[in-house]
Amino acid sequence: MSSTLLTDTRLYALLKRCDEDLARTIREAGCRCCGGVLHSARYRRKPRGLSPGGTAQEHWRMSFCCARDLCRKRATPPSLRFLGRRVYLATAVVLASMMRCGATPVRVRRLEELIGVSRRTVKRWQQWWRCLLPRSPFWRGAGAQLCEPVVTSDLPRSLWDRFRGDGEQRLLSLLRFLSPLTGGTRI
Ligand SMILES: [Zn+2]
Repeated sequence: MSSTLLTDTRLYALLKRCDEDLARTIREAGCRCCGGVLHSARYRRKPRGLSPGGTAQEHWRMSFCCARDLCRKRATPPSLRFLGRRVYLATAVVLASMMRCGATPVRVRRLEELIGVSRRTVKRWQQWWRCLLPRSPFWRGAGAQLCEPVVTSDLPRSLWDRFRGDGEQRLLSLLRFLSPLTGGTRI
């Protein structure tokens, strides 16, 4: 299941549309500081973790800048595709970290073949999930949204298990849950 989602181009297109909706909401709200009009200040990303067809496309991180000369405040909407500055797509950071739970050499090799991610990188992501994320201010706030606390030593699997639906629906819910981390703008 997870490996199918990892390279699903239709899913990527869906996440891109979600990002466009989030960006529209931010843009329509105007500048947070002065209420001014926001202009596009998007920037290019070259994410890893895409299917071979996906790497040929151009990828943009949506972002805006206030049009008023004395303000120029930047507003970057949350994203379901880009998890902060990580070079890999958020989908890969979630799914690969889960696949390594009880990883067999075969699974690790399959991951490398699919999206070119190394065992060392996945290990780093897992440290982030299990050690850094639970200590973040985001987590303290977001944890309150969950009915009961999740087992942090089993992240992201324990979080995944909290959401309902099939793999795609759970992934979308999880990415939405994390999205305030990605742009610095809570909406
Ligand atoms: Zn402004």
